Amino acid sequence: MKYHSTRGGASGMSFKDMLLSGYACDGGMLLPENIPTVSRETLRSWAGLPYAELAFKIASCFIEESDIPASDLQRIFEQAYSTFSVPEVVPLAHLKDGLVVVELFHGRSLAFKDLSLACLGNFYNYFLREDDRHMTLLVCTSGDTGSAAIEAVRGFDKVDIIVMLPRGRITQIQELMMTTVLDSNVHVYRMDGSSDDIDIVVRDLFGDPAFVQQHNLASPSSLNFTRVLVQMVHIYYTYLQLCPSADCELEMICPTGGAGNVTAGMLAREMGLPAKFVCAVNDNNVLSRIMDNGQCNLGDVHVTLAPAMDIQFAYNLERIWHLCSNGDSTLIKKIMKEVDDGNVNVPVNVLNAMKKAIKVYTVKGDEEIKSAIKRCWDENEYNICPHTAIGVAYYYSHGKDIKGLSAVLATASPLKFPDAIKASEVPVPNSERMHQLVVSPARHIDLEKGQDWTAIIRAKVEEISQQKPSQTTVDP
Ligand SMILES: *Cc1c(COP(=O)(O)O)cnc(C)c1O
Repeated sequence: MKYHSTRGGASGMSFKDMLLSGYACDGGMLLPENIPTVSRETLRSWAGLPYAELAFKIASCFIEESDIPASDLQRIFEQAYSTFSVPEVVPLAHLKDGLVVVELFHGRSLAFKDLSLACLGNFYNYFLREDDRHMTLLVCTSGDTGSAAIEAVRGFDKVDIIVMLPRGRITQIQELMMTTVLDSNVHVYRMDGSSDDIDIVVRDLFGDPAFVQQHNLASPSSLNFTRVLVQMVHIYYTYLQLCPSADCELEMICPTGGAGNVTAGMLAREMGLPAKFVCAVNDNNVLSRIMDNGQCNLGDVHVTLAPAMDIQFAYNLERIWHLCSNGDSTLIKKIMKEVDDGNVNVPVNVLNAMKKAIKVYTVKGDEEIKSAIKRCWDENEYNICPHTAIGVAYYYSHGKDIKGLSAVLATASPLKFPDAIKASEVPVPNSERMHQLVVSPARHIDLEKGQDWTAIIRAKVEEISQQKPSQTTVDP
């Protein structure tokens, strides 16, 4: 299986090249060149497999023996999921009125990004050890991605990670989950600025290809197709838990930001999985306007109770449009130019293809989030996070119309969002882990306004490379 760009400027990339580069050189996003199919018979034969085993089966459709031998691939998944706190990896909660909640948050950082980043970290480690070379990851985080990325690579000898967070703009728990990790390969910077200010540093450094190559700089962002690939596993797993006979259709309700989960779902659907998707969003997201008439204008983002979903443009739409236009890279280039100009116009045929599989639900502000948290607690004594609540809110307003199976993805643990739960007038869950965080020693470097952040981070990357030189140079 080879990988190519949605915009047609790169093709024939191996799994390893796709993994390590993360993005396409033409500014597009990487996807497999062919979409494999999984027959109903094969699907049925996967029912009952343990999570890591199922991951291996799905990944084997995209990663060949010549990329990674089967026994190594199996070990990568076993190691990644061994960091989860429950043996099922992804348990399902069956609640009142047929509501099914898929708990994606039992990884170390208590959010669903652990599921893909734990695998990504182990894939990196596998190839870096094989090549005996070192890599530095650079992450700008506005919340969950930073801690999941740190947890994915802490203690690895071939990987260092530099995380930059906007000081005072993320929750205390989110910050402590990063700053209290004391492994020597983890470097956390608290910047006095917004995520957009920090993004400039990332763009400056990645905008220097010679520097990127010399220091083996990479980003574990969700632009990396490996993350989408691995996210298919929880979609298949949920499907097979609810319908082991593989003869029903599932409506998967996805709290959506960048649309990584939905893209994984759309790919699984292309492969033959009988599933469709509800993108549950807050009103920052322009997805519902795009689906209504193909058009949208981008504006300002405001803060909601569900910060991980405060995203206007779901960047994975580029992949979805590619899937829904039979891989028309000329069209994708045109649409993405319009996105850059802030005014999108999606052709009707592509929209129609999307509408067959995707529905959008926009939650009515923080009030509806709070009332979903409250109702879920009152009916079940079950706590949900404010992101999950947006999916549950869809279920509460449409549950009676849903024919067949449905499930809501729970994207983060309620333990991470005590303020939203308190605001919903629901008892706040007590957790020893959260108490520990507050009293644990923390380590970070503060960068102030007016300092040259790019120069400081650049010097840090150089210092790391000097301490941990690669034995071999990077392939050109
Ligand atoms: C990242 C994230 C989302 C959004 O997921 P996408 O796949 O990018 O749409 C939703 N909820 C939480 C808690 C997240 O961390």
